[in-house]
Amino acid sequence: MKVNVTLTMARIAPRTGAVNRAHTKVTPPRPSLPKNYRLIYEIVEESGIGRHLKPAEIYAKALRRRPGIGFSTVYRGLERLCALGFVSELNVPGSDAATYEPSGPRHAHFRCAGCGAIEDVAYVIPARTVKALALEHGFTVESERVTFEGRCARCALGTPRRAPARYRPASHESPT
Ligand SMILES: [Zn+2]
Ligand SMILES: [Zn+2]
Repeated sequence: MKVNVTLTMARIAPRTGAVNRAHTKVTPPRPSLPKNYRLIYEIVEESGIGRHLKPAEIYAKALRRRPGIGFSTVYRGLERLCALGFVSELNVPGSDAATYEPSGPRHAHFRCAGCGAIEDVAYVIPARTVKALALEHGFTVESERVTFEGRCARCALGTPRRAPARYRPASHESPT
């Protein structure tokens, strides 16, 4: 199993990038947002904890509920919602697109190399480990993201679930 750990160093990471990509602990109240952005927020929130939606999926859902909404509106809305801490953007190594999930408690992710499924893992690097690394290297840590890679339970048993389109790597033949 491969483990990717990304530590964002305060002196290097641009401030906005760090905020955009971090899982925040903020549990926001019902936001007073423009109605298009509120729709996007509701779609991500309704997907629930543990679901990770790609922009195209969010756009498809938004279009059903508000015909005529543009993809760029949805994309801008996602960026804005991330900056405000309502939504978290997730860039899992090996995945072909960013995904979005409701902001919540920090956690790690697992990506199956077989079917591409992305799952939540209830794990954070212990604070004392992060502190020790920061002391050792002389940087301050603002956020960290941990991704485990391997085979999900189904793939490990040799019975991969049919990979949903959203998780199928674009440059890859679908498993047979
Ligand atoms: Zn799998
Ligand atoms: Zn997650």
